[in-house]
Formats: sequence, C-alpha cells, structure tokens
Amino acid sequence: PTIVEVGSGKAVTKVGGGHLGMIAGPCAIESAERLDEIAGEIKKAGANILRGGAYKPRTSPYAFQGLGEEGLKILREIGDKHGLPVVTEAIDPRHVELIAEYTDMIQLGARNMQNFVLLTEVGKTHKPVLMKRGMAATVKDLLMSAEYVIANGTTDVVLCERGVKGFDNACRNMLDVAAVPQVHQMSHLPIIVDPSHATGRPELIPACALAGLAAGADGIHIEVHNCPEEAMSDGPQALLPNQYAELMEQLKKVALAI
Ligand code: PEP
Ligand code: MN
Repeated sequence: PTIVEVGSGKAVTKVGGGHLGMIAGPCAIESAERLDEIAGEIKKAGANILRGGAYKPRTSPYAFQGLGEEGLKILREIGDKHGLPVVTEAIDPRHVELIAEYTDMIQLGARNMQNFVLLTEVGKTHKPVLMKRGMAATVKDLLMSAEYVIANGTTDVVLCERGVKGFDNACRNMLDVAAVPQVHQMSHLPIIVDPSHATGRPELIPACALAGLAAGADGIHIEVHNCPEEAMSDGPQALLPNQYAELMEQLKKVALAI
C-alpha cells in the first residue's frame, strides 16, 4: 500500500498502510477566529489534518464562494499554530499554483473529479492530493482520475468515498461502503470515507463513519463547526466539536479492534 505523507517539519501525517488520516474542519474558512477555535477542538479530539474551503464549488452563484487567498492565509496560519497539516479544495486551474504555496494537500472535489485539465495542473504541483469520488462516478472512474494526477507528477493520492447520487432524497447522497474494500482490492492507494457529504445529516454521521473504518478505510473526513446555524456553507451537516470528540473516541475503539 502507498503511504501518503501530508505536511512537513513537525506536522506530518501519514495516510495509508495502517496510518489513519483523520481530516476535520469547517466546510468553508470563514474567519481566523472561528477556524482557530474549531482547529483547537478537533486537534484535542485527535484529528491530524485540518480542512477548510477557500474556493467553494457552490450550486448557486449567489451563495458564499469562499474567501479566496485570504482564506488560504488563514488556513496556513491556523494549521501551523495547532501543528496540523492543511488541505483545501482547488476548483480552477488558475488557482492551483497559489493553493500549492499555502497548503500541504490539494483536494479535488466530487464536482471536478473528471475535470482533466484541473487534474493535470494539480498533478504538476507534486503535492499530495485528496481526490473525492464524483457523485455519479464508478470506482473505476475514480481510479482513472487518480491516474491522471499520478501521470502528471504527483504520486501521493488519497481517495475519498463521499457518497453517490441515490434515488432516495432522505439523505444528501448514498454512502457506498463497498467502494472501500473494492479500492483496496484494485489499487495500492489509500481511501478514506466522508460521511458528512454522504449523508448530509449529523445524526447519521457516526454510524457511517464507524462503518467506513470497520470496512478498512484509511481515515475519516468530517465537517465540524462550532456554530452550524451561522455557517456560510454546509452548516446543517456539521458536527459540533463535542459530537466530533465523542465520535473520535468510538472510532479509536474500532481502529484498535480491526
Ligand atoms: C467539501 O469537501 O466541502 C465538498 C464540496 O465536498 P464534495 O466535493 O465531496 O461535495
Ligand atoms: Mn462541504
């Protein structure tokens, strides 16, 4: 198995080959103060990579689009303060160089999993990549998209199962837990599970996170916010810091058991 190293200096997190990447943070970076509070809480709970969007792929053009470079600066500063490597999403090839300067890992989102121009630009940075499965992509499609990044220079790709479109709109998406053992069968790359975007419902997140880990996932990605009702994006699916901490205790028990 490939072991992906995220970060540098004292803050290095390994993902894969028995190392769990526990990624957490708000959907979007909103302010330094808020990210600082959230980062402190998730670090205490055991998270080892801080996430936050500076460029958000929103369904509506009138929704909050992210703080851009200001957000990247905040993410770097807060990550360093708490000793956490940081990951953020790139949605536009024109931003890739700037994002690579500020972050330790570049996220390719579900909506861009087959944006091959973007994949190519991100691959050229040689930065570790978090590649999310497209909402209508097969496991094979996901692996071929990872191949695009790898063919262009980056060897370190962490895949992420974040749910696919289902017929039942009770949940935001449908978590495909079977993707985890499938990826392990077909590839050397690590795969983590994102129950936040898969369910869109905080009360369902713990069960799906535990199932993901039990299925062999190399980590869990969860959105955490200290004031979900004020969040600029994905507030309704955010776990509160104390809920995240409680879940992490359960996840640690599963990790020890498998
Ligand atoms: C996100 O991580 O905030 C995000 C937009 O995720 P996805 O691409 O899985 O929808
Ligand atoms: Mn989100």
